[in-house]
Amino acid sequence: MLKTHGCGILREEHIGQTVTLAGWVNRRRDMGGVIFIDLRDSTGIAQVVIDSGKNDVDFPTAEKVRNEYVLQVRGTVDPRMEGMQNPNLPTGAVELTVTEINILNPSKPVPIQVDKDAGEDESLRLKYRYLDLRRERMQRNLRIRHAAIKYIRDFLDQRNFIEIETPILFKSTPEGARDYLVPSRVHPGKFYALPQSPQQLKQLLMVAGYENYFQVARCFRDEDQRADRQPEFTQMDLEMSFVERDDILDLIEAMTIGMVEHTSVIPLASKEFPRISYRDAMERYGSDRPDIRFDMELVDLSDIMKDSAFKVFASNAKAGKPTKAICAKGCGHYSRKDMADLEDFAKKQGAKGLAYLAIDPKTEQVKGPIAKFFTTEQLDAIMTKMGAEVGDLIMLSSDDKMVVYSVLGELRLEMGRRLGLTTNTSLNFCWVIDFPLFEEGMEDGHYAPSHHMFTAPQRDHIPLLDSDPHAVLSEQYDLVCNGFEVSGGSIRIHERPLQRKIMELIGFSIEEAQDQFGHMLEAFEYGAPPHGGIAQGLDRLIALMAGEPNIREVMAFPKNQNATDLMADAPSFVVQKQLDDLNIAHAGAAIEAVEAAENGE
Ligand code: ASP
Repeated sequence: MLKTHGCGILREEHIGQTVTLAGWVNRRRDMGGVIFIDLRDSTGIAQVVIDSGKNDVDFPTAEKVRNEYVLQVRGTVDPRMEGMQNPNLPTGAVELTVTEINILNPSKPVPIQVDKDAGEDESLRLKYRYLDLRRERMQRNLRIRHAAIKYIRDFLDQRNFIEIETPILFKSTPEGARDYLVPSRVHPGKFYALPQSPQQLKQLLMVAGYENYFQVARCFRDEDQRADRQPEFTQMDLEMSFVERDDILDLIEAMTIGMVEHTSVIPLASKEFPRISYRDAMERYGSDRPDIRFDMELVDLSDIMKDSAFKVFASNAKAGKPTKAICAKGCGHYSRKDMADLEDFAKKQGAKGLAYLAIDPKTEQVKGPIAKFFTTEQLDAIMTKMGAEVGDLIMLSSDDKMVVYSVLGELRLEMGRRLGLTTNTSLNFCWVIDFPLFEEGMEDGHYAPSHHMFTAPQRDHIPLLDSDPHAVLSEQYDLVCNGFEVSGGSIRIHERPLQRKIMELIGFSIEEAQDQFGHMLEAFEYGAPPHGGIAQGLDRLIALMAGEPNIREVMAFPKNQNATDLMADAPSFVVQKQLDDLNIAHAGAAIEAVEAAENGE
């Protein structure tokens, strides 16, 4: 080794020892005759002192040193002078008095500052990711990531799970996103698909008798990059045979609690993960990913509206369209302009307008454009139901239930943000269970699965598949943390006839089902055990545990929001020979079009 100790491990107990350190110059201060360097390696930072008056040290070399030079220094560990200790640094009581200094490699002036976050543009950070990754924050994040994944592996290993790798070059998997396709050279015109998840393969492993499987699996989905998504991401993928829903929930709960307790910066809010039905989640939070860090629940006011003089809401109530509301504490003073902004926000979620009532903090009277339509008793009843007090703001939505959920669900989150109720100070987990098997509405005359087509309907709901498929509840479960879906899974269908039936409802003809999933359907005929599983989105979970706002902060080499790797400039054009080998004819035209656009033609 070119060093005897890590920079970050020097302590008072090392005083008097001769040690060799190697690392990067985090910062240097030239005091004229004495140079102080903060030398950094992956263990931390040590102060090294090059004193021109001591030890015949090669001072001219020390004078050449700049930030991010790679150095090797040898010397003795000394106590820092009285008053010069740095209690914020683990090595802050000592320093290295250098006898020998060696520049192992110089560095150009760096385009981003490594020793502190200077608020650079993210694209610059991603272009120079290898420099960005030197920073303390990123080193910490990737260590948390390592620790979390190690915890999972150890936890599952102790419970007799085995990790099995499944192929990356595979066949289209139905997770609802677009596939990344890989052209086959050997089979002209044919393509592999990169797995959106190992779903089919893990189910086939159950048929194969591996009762407890897991994998830290890379998944690929060609989705629009809006929001916080990555084309490739990592999930903890798990499948078990002979299990029921609660076996999986209990296992994942124990694993998640342990992982957070051992590796998270942000603590758990509670070891109890409430189990909320999909219906309750929608009714109370307007979302199937309820953010339970705060209350502000949706309250149903349809009964009061039925008899009110507010025609739109009254007739909605009679037509079975709900009126619901949320109460934002202390927002009764909002101006017309504030309310106009919130109305715009609500319209983006599908609202036609935004009705509201406020209890004026000064007059203590209920005000708002719709107040005149209600009797005093009705207003009292509304305020009582909402638990509203002087100074509060009530926002109402009346429409088809899905519109009401989306409008009030998003308004609730917006008000939560405005009121500082969504800070990342703890991790609040809950399960959502009892999802409908199919989404509301139809797609091209067919049902769309809420989770994926391998999810089992609840046993006693199977007869409803013939009479009222939309009423069928499934064995799907999602784990939600601070409003993010961090895991999702289900008990699966393991019988061929039922799987065929669901495929039919989803709109697969017999030929299509055979063509795409013939291997699954056939496997189900050779004694497939009852089974179920789950996948945990590790990038998101780790970002939450590290207190980071997005998943790119916990991935070593993420793509930007345009699915581009700015460091390596991927995706990129390839040479014609490669395209010819793959029988790809049209790329040439695409390349010319891009080049023409770049040349402003
Ligand atoms: N394959 C599913 C997903 O990736 C998870 C599961 O059902 O196990 O979301």
